[in-house]
Amino acid sequence: MTKQKTLIFFGAHPDDETFGMGATLALYVLRGVKVYCVCSTRGEAGSVDPELMKGYATIGDLRWNELKCAAQVLGLADITYLGYRDSGMRGSEQNKHPDALAMAPIEEVAGRMVKIIRELKPDVVLTHDAGGGYGHPDHIATHNAAVKAFYAAGDPAQYPEVGPVFRPYKLYFGVRPRRFTRLMVKLMPLFGQDPHHFGRNRDVDITKTMAVEHPFHAVIRLTKQASEIRVRAAACHASQGGGQPRRGPWLFRINEMFRRQQDYFMREYPPPSQHLEKDLFEGLPE
Ligand SMILES: [Zn+2]
Repeated sequence: MTKQKTLIFFGAHPDDETFGMGATLALYVLRGVKVYCVCSTRGEAGSVDPELMKGYATIGDLRWNELKCAAQVLGLADITYLGYRDSGMRGSEQNKHPDALAMAPIEEVAGRMVKIIRELKPDVVLTHDAGGGYGHPDHIATHNAAVKAFYAAGDPAQYPEVGPVFRPYKLYFGVRPRRFTRLMVKLMPLFGQDPHHFGRNRDVDITKTMAVEHPFHAVIRLTKQASEIRVRAAACHASQGGGQPRRGPWLFRINEMFRRQQDYFMREYPPPSQHLEKDLFEGLPE
């Protein structure tokens, strides 16, 4: 019997698995792939609607529960907490918390990921792009550690205490084509949104993400079913605006429309060629 195809997504916060490439994850679950989510933090930073805190001692508890809900909707095989604290945006006080991901040495973060890769033996590994999508320090830290862990997992000289070695076939970063971000930035003021201060905590500068163009090497065409699953999973993340178009209905719809069509991935390994892939598992031995 051949081994079941396996995929790991390394994300920084509860909601990254859904708001970004959620439909792709759902698509591969539907295709029989075992899909795991490893979350660096429990999303403790920032604020949430006090109404939603009923029954929860901390924001981390609430958001982890939202992740559990989303994982169930997406059909994930499991979710794992990497053990760090949400760092908040750059320059915030939360950055300096001793447990913050931003404070953790990359060797340590990558070591925890290597252990998981060697245990779960994924064929494909996914994570944030090098710019962290919109520059969140936790996204960047998760990206850097995941890249290090991807290569280290297959190297017997690295982290020998958490062996045996395992080498996944492929590593991708979820990216958003710049033309889409440009369109967002142009449209936002029309809906009373400031692209320099976006998001629930008004701490996201979307214009900064346009500085770097991330090429894409795989385009995953999403099915209606996978997109609908993503929308339902997003509703689990109520504290982050999921399922409630509070960002301005039209803007929300534009984002949703974009996310319904296809997801874009930049391939880190194997080194990309001119060929545009349509499947993240393309080229793998059957
Ligand atoms: Zn995030």
